Amino acid sequence: MKPLSSDATRLVAEAVAVRRAIHACPEVAFEEVETARLAADRMRARGLTVRTGLGQTGVAAVLDTGRPGRTVLLRADLDALPVAEGTGLPFASTNGKMHACGHDGHVAALDMAADLLLLDPPACGRIVFAFQPAEESTGGAIAMIADGVLENPRPDVVFGIHLWTPLPLGTVGVAAGPMMAAVDEFRIEVTGRGGHAASPHETLDAVLGASHVIQALQSIVSRRLPPLSPAVVSVASVHGGNAFNVLPERVVLTGTCRSFDPDAVDALPGLVTGTAAAAAAVAGCAAETTYLRKSRALVNDAGEAARASRCASALVGERNVTAACRTMGGEDFSEFLGKVPGAFAFVGAAPATDPPGRRRAHHAPDFDFDERALPVAAKLFAAVARSVLAGE
Ligand SMILES: [Zn+2]
Ligand SMILES: [Zn+2]
Repeated sequence: MKPLSSDATRLVAEAVAVRRAIHACPEVAFEEVETARLAADRMRARGLTVRTGLGQTGVAAVLDTGRPGRTVLLRADLDALPVAEGTGLPFASTNGKMHACGHDGHVAALDMAADLLLLDPPACGRIVFAFQPAEESTGGAIAMIADGVLENPRPDVVFGIHLWTPLPLGTVGVAAGPMMAAVDEFRIEVTGRGGHAASPHETLDAVLGASHVIQALQSIVSRRLPPLSPAVVSVASVHGGNAFNVLPERVVLTGTCRSFDPDAVDALPGLVTGTAAAAAAVAGCAAETTYLRKSRALVNDAGEAARASRCASALVGERNVTAACRTMGGEDFSEFLGKVPGAFAFVGAAPATDPPGRRRAHHAPDFDFDERALPVAAKLFAAVARSVLAGE
């Protein structure tokens, strides 16, 4: 049975309403209490079995056909960002946080997918709808997995999407193999000896030491890693000093490394630590590096990427599905994919009404996506689930 057109119109209107309700009240990592409640309540209202509190605020709902078969897990992330919204939308957030990455849309799309699947339930197997906390800070996927989201039932396949404004509305991006980078975080404390800015020779200048470190870190990608191994080292914050005439004792840098190849992933902590220490020493300072792994590279199973690509082609047309969508951005859905074969896809969501050249960068205060991407995402979720359960 195909959804009647009146069903389709109603479901799209409902998805937009859900998205806007979540957008107006964003919650950041591990604080997604109301967002999780909304997702759980709607799944319960459909008669699904719901588990809550997975990885603190995560939710998993199971649609069980009652007949043995395969299990597929579909995942959406719940969290917003600590960004003050500047869109001016009528449903804009006013609490200083913002759904500036589209996760509000992910929840709405997965919610709509449940209705699409219930309109014409698959003949056998189970579908797990997983609403994950804390994707942005990372840690949510690992926490949910630790709390058993991949058990009882254990999925045979996992699938996730991201609404993606670098891609136009009506397109889908999915690539076999590595698609998104491994994410690391570093903190470098450059320590010297503070003193009067007029007598630098009596100090060990941590500001100069930190500037050497920032410069030298850029030689890691250009000179220490193979040119064909994609990697990024970015220093994203610099904190030190509070007066124009006082050299501080300490400057703290934080930043991120992104990489794909296991060799680069393994080499980066040592390269950052060693380069920082050597560069700081030029100014007579010490550098202490704290290096954290945030999430592994997102690697799509080749067969599952092909399935997602087939399903997407049926939805938006083969020429609107691209594999040229690799990015140095990260996604902790990689942790699911590290345990269960599956795929992750980008659903093109650039607002079609924007003037040419306008960019809606994810994480920017003016981020927005085209809500017509919601049904595309929901239908892709449903199509992949049906395909897995049909044993295709
Ligand atoms: Zn994001
Ligand atoms: Zn995101």
